[in-house]
Amino acid sequence: MTHPLYPHLFRPLDLSHVVLPNRVLMGSMHTNLEEVGDWNRIATYFEERARGGVALMVTGGMAPNREGGVFPGAAGLFNDQDIANHRLVTERVHDAGGRIAMQILHAGRYAYGKDCVAPSAVKSPISPFAPTALDEAGIAKQIADFATAAARARDAGYDGIEVMGSEGYLINQFLVTHVNKREDDWGGSYENRMRFALEVVRACRAAVGEDFILIFRLSMIDLIPNGSTWEEVVALAKAVEGAGASMINTGIGWHEARVPTIATSVPRAAFADVTRRMMAEVSIPLITSNRINTPEVAEDVLARGCADMVSMARPFLADADFVAKAKAGRAAEIAPCIACNQACLDHTFQMKVSTCLVNPRACHETELLYTPAPQVRRVAVVGAGPAGLSAALVAAERGHAVTLFEQAERIGGQLNMARRIPGKEEFHGLVAYYEAAVARAGIDLRLGTRAGRAALETYDEIILATGVLPRDPGIPGQDGANVLSYIDVLRDDAPVGQRVAIIGAGGIGFDVAEFLAQPPGQSVTEAPAEWAREWGVSRPWKTRGGLARPEPAPATRQITLLQRKAERPGKGLGKTTGWIHRAALRAAGVRMIGGVTYEKVTPEGLRISHGPAREAPEVLAVDTIVICAGQEPSRALLGELDGLNVHVIGGADVAAELDAKRAIAQGARLSAAL
Ligand code: NAP
Ligand code: SF4
Repeated sequence: MTHPLYPHLFRPLDLSHVVLPNRVLMGSMHTNLEEVGDWNRIATYFEERARGGVALMVTGGMAPNREGGVFPGAAGLFNDQDIANHRLVTERVHDAGGRIAMQILHAGRYAYGKDCVAPSAVKSPISPFAPTALDEAGIAKQIADFATAAARARDAGYDGIEVMGSEGYLINQFLVTHVNKREDDWGGSYENRMRFALEVVRACRAAVGEDFILIFRLSMIDLIPNGSTWEEVVALAKAVEGAGASMINTGIGWHEARVPTIATSVPRAAFADVTRRMMAEVSIPLITSNRINTPEVAEDVLARGCADMVSMARPFLADADFVAKAKAGRAAEIAPCIACNQACLDHTFQMKVSTCLVNPRACHETELLYTPAPQVRRVAVVGAGPAGLSAALVAAERGHAVTLFEQAERIGGQLNMARRIPGKEEFHGLVAYYEAAVARAGIDLRLGTRAGRAALETYDEIILATGVLPRDPGIPGQDGANVLSYIDVLRDDAPVGQRVAIIGAGGIGFDVAEFLAQPPGQSVTEAPAEWAREWGVSRPWKTRGGLARPEPAPATRQITLLQRKAERPGKGLGKTTGWIHRAALRAAGVRMIGGVTYEKVTPEGLRISHGPAREAPEVLAVDTIVICAGQEPSRALLGELDGLNVHVIGGADVAAELDAKRAIAQGARLSAAL
């Protein structure tokens, strides 16, 4: 029967030997769970998502051999014990009615180790290790190792494999002259350069037989200099189909590309048209990916004929039940992935287990449980920012009677400032999700209410989530009319002059700079063509690799971003997204200066000096100075609550390095234990 809301999303997909129930693939994500090696925990993680109705899941990348691991010790199926471990996962997934394919990823020159190998000895800009060029025997070994991994995946009970041929990993490295400098049968002509990819697919197919899903992840747009042309991409897709792939998944951009491809500032479904162009070229199903995070966007992509299936990865960290909720017409209940990378990819790169900013249970399914409370308690939560919302929702889910007090007229706290920043539009969806969730949970929400002792003393548990206050930097003259705080700017729309100095280059300083650099109400994230022009993104049928000359729009104001630390401003921003913010502001002409002392604010501007010896004093002639000097806990209420059962969370607890990830996790963990 056709689904009334998402007819394309819920059409089965016939792969001959198996019919997938819908068009949603959970894309591969490296969570570091396999490296921790708690196989019950891994199985539970995948089982919950299988139960949530996704048609097919792909594991994180498994190395086919030691030299191909992304880092030393990276997981793979190397022996019988590994196979037995993985069988635990596949059995639990199958019991839950799901299907799962194992990704085989050979990192080539991206492998973070001295034994890394590549078509040629060309070091990658994102790794300190120079690879050894493979000789003929080495190439044969890599292909054989792919096939062995494929056979082991089948032995372990997987429904298929995904051969990772994109994002600049080994197979991709063979494909482009940028890094393949060989002059033998594996380099030179495109026919030679794609030989490795095809030999891998043929060997894997031979190893697993016909009745097994074989996805090839193909780089449809490399976004690097001397990347593939569209003719080459199409030739590869056709050849991969001929070599035995059952589906082709879309890869976008090498890891070394200087173009964001999955960050929140990337327009939704920004690359789906690339897959669409391939639709006429091959007859096997095509999967598209990148910045698809709601059922509506996924349905639209399919309805426009961009692909046969959509891949979403991070949205399944945010909500394991994404597909089931969409199917039941309950899309408003899906916890949205805001593409922040803060708890997933940033964790992966810090060798920590991934989780999710909006869903702290992700990858913690075996230990963070929201079980029914043994005894219902009356819980008061003060403050409806991320920490308070999270605490209130988990407490209510567990059956407690929750009252949520919020001084403002709406919930969201600092999220309401974040969502005004160009490129952070996803925060609108997060606040909307919380609004709906609070209403659904039957929480007694008291907006515009400042709770005091009298209102709180009747509760069994009081959770103080009163957030933060801006830090006072104590700069002489800071009470001048030309000085604003970030709250004046982001919440209250205070007028800001043409020349601006921003004091403090943390997350909020950067946010304010981006807010003030763009014309009011405009965001290139909502204008895909402009976004592409700013970042120099073309299409491979126009320019090789899909790269063009970036044409960033200059900032609409003259902005100087300052900090006292001598280090590069923005160094403390997210590991996988900080470079994007720095690059965007640099391109817009924002000055960034570290190592300053704020001497004095005057009507003419801001007097600063440089270095520890306070040298080279100068006056920055600016109209407005915006203070973004960090925050202090706001917990004056605590003093009124002596003798009551009070828990302090979020910024009210510790303001330093506070972000929504910590606030939400702390709220959830507290209420899980109440
Ligand atoms: P922050 O990241 O701690 O940055 C505070 C800034 O103020 C720093 O640049 C600091 O640099 C400066 N500062 C500190 N004390 C000062 C003083 N006494 N006088 C003058 N300058 C001072 O805090 P935030 O920008 O308020 O952000 C709050 C939290 O929200 C952060 O943890 C941040 O990660 C999070 N957030 C994240 C994002 C994101 O994109 N992921 C966006 C917004 C906010 P110096 O000490 O070197 O001067
Ligand atoms: Fe999405 Fe952020 Fe969660 Fe990662 S941490 S899954 S990007 S919401």
